[in-house]
Amino acid sequence: MNKKQKNLLIRIIIATVFFIPLYLISEDIVHVDMPKWALILLFLIPYLTVGYDIIRKVLLGIKNGKMFDECFLMTVATIGAIALGEYGEGVAVMLLYQVGELFQSYAVGKSRKNISELMDIRPDYANIEKEDGTLERVDPDEVEVDTVIVVQPGEKVPIDGVIVEGSSALNTAALTGESKPREVGVDDTVLSGSINISGVLKIRTTAQFDESTASKILDLVENAASRKSKSENFISKFARVYTPFVCYAALALALIPPLFIMLTKIGMANYASIGALWRDWILRACTFLVISCPCAVVISIPLSFFAGIGGASNQGILIKGSNYLETLSEVTTVAFDKTGTITKGNFEVTAVHHSPLDEAKLMEYAALAECHSSHPISLSLQKAYGKKVDPTRVTDLEEISGHGIVCKVDGTDVAVGNEKLMNRLGIPFHHCHHIGTIIHMAVAGEYAGHIVISDEMKEHSKEAMIKLKKAGIERTVMLTGDAEAVAKQVAAEVGLTEYRAELLPQDKVACVEALLKECTGNKKLAFVGDGINDAPVLSRADIGIAMGALGSDAAIEAADIVLMDDDPLKIPKAIKISRKCLGIVKQNIAFALIVKAICLVLGALGMANMWVAIIADVGVMILAVLNAIRCLFVKNL
Ligand code: ADP
Ligand code: MG
Repeated sequence: MNKKQKNLLIRIIIATVFFIPLYLISEDIVHVDMPKWALILLFLIPYLTVGYDIIRKVLLGIKNGKMFDECFLMTVATIGAIALGEYGEGVAVMLLYQVGELFQSYAVGKSRKNISELMDIRPDYANIEKEDGTLERVDPDEVEVDTVIVVQPGEKVPIDGVIVEGSSALNTAALTGESKPREVGVDDTVLSGSINISGVLKIRTTAQFDESTASKILDLVENAASRKSKSENFISKFARVYTPFVCYAALALALIPPLFIMLTKIGMANYASIGALWRDWILRACTFLVISCPCAVVISIPLSFFAGIGGASNQGILIKGSNYLETLSEVTTVAFDKTGTITKGNFEVTAVHHSPLDEAKLMEYAALAECHSSHPISLSLQKAYGKKVDPTRVTDLEEISGHGIVCKVDGTDVAVGNEKLMNRLGIPFHHCHHIGTIIHMAVAGEYAGHIVISDEMKEHSKEAMIKLKKAGIERTVMLTGDAEAVAKQVAAEVGLTEYRAELLPQDKVACVEALLKECTGNKKLAFVGDGINDAPVLSRADIGIAMGALGSDAAIEAADIVLMDDDPLKIPKAIKISRKCLGIVKQNIAFALIVKAICLVLGALGMANMWVAIIADVGVMILAVLNAIRCLFVKNL
């Protein structure tokens, strides 16, 4: 509990201690002879103790011309009740209202803290080794790219980089939701925000602090709250109209019926005097004000989204705003990229065919041509070659997306890519009957053979599709630039409902647009990609989900939802989180509106007094907040 909350708690306790005996006296349960004015004065002690800040807010609001809020409703209602001699009820309403406020601020604070603990990746300092070997702590902001920093066991990695010395295990749970430590050694890339568990690491930084993963993620989460969902926007607009409306309605309730009764004398027989008539209706108006207080809905909706986004980020799922959470819950079609999304993107060379050159030479050309690209195929070919290549031998390089690479190696033309590339260059090629991704090669304008590579399925791809189907996703479509045969095999193996093969990046956009047209009504389409040459599709879909995007800037930029690790199971999980969250929001709205409506009718009929009203109000609010907090617990979805 923070200071403000403690202060409020103490005030509530003091006020309650005063209130109970006074209430017993005022209701004549305990007989004490005391003049009425003394009793009023005594009742003002608990009232002001617990409610002075509310009254101050109202006065400030009136001064600034923004008076219609919940505090205003409560203040008018309670002062009205006290003025009419219902001291006990007036004070009790203020007291209970504050109990509700305390509970709510505690709950919100608690979930906020929970989330920031979950997101505890903000590095405070970086260590730089001085010439005499001692360490100097500096602001990570001041560290230039290419500086060697030292990270000791127990410390957070402040800036992205590559290990130059040492080995250790890293805890990346705050980044990926994965609790198993990751073993790292020299030449491994490390991301800021992970925690060094065992050994001392020397890391050469590869980015500025604010371009590092930790800073980017924090930016993203902090900005998420500002992208409001439709429900949130609706509620804040609603409250702006609703609260003044309620005030005028209460005024009407206090004036019109008694005036009508006075003028027509209809029903006057029910009242002992004109004074009693007015008192009754003003009291009903005060009750009406208390009942109408919209706190439960106003508070619980943003809290639900906030908690949902927080719970998701704990699982390594970053959602850039409540609006995306809302859209995600309506997704019925999921389109996927293949390489790096459904498959690992770790290609193994399975065969090398028809080569006038010897195999090693062919592999060397392939590795050289691919040495500047970050495409999974390139990385795999370089790995398969195994030796370091000298990139200065490569000139005039052009990477043609969806085709491959053309360049010069030692001044000789080399082309590495698929059939499309060979067709484009007008080089006749041999068809290959192997199933796999076929990388054709041409050297000096002559066909030089092909390399067959094949990719491994990700461990959880199949399970993810099963879970998506269970979650009611109607279509799962794979969009790939790879050959038809490979696509067909992968689609069958993981259980996709459809696939489209041999697509260029622009064809993928066209495919997504066609799929979008088929999503009628409230149905939404999500696209999941790894961010390598699919950024345009990520932004075109209703929801773009970037997978394994840690460290890939383009993907983090273009996507609406970022899955920190490569696990496809996060896709059904994200959808389930969004549905749970939206479900809770709807439950809360419905619950609050139903209870309020019942109380309003009872109140207008004079059957619900202020006690009923405040207990309903605070009760609904507490239940709604507790319900909203459930959004935080999404681990086992
Ligand atoms: P995916 O849809 O599987 O992610 P891409 O659009 O990235 O595929 O690439 C489609 C095809 O283009 C690949 O299967 C490959 O045949 C060819 N290709 C793309 N980039 C390269 C490259 N750097 N080297 C060789 N071939 C490539
Ligand atoms: Mg791709």
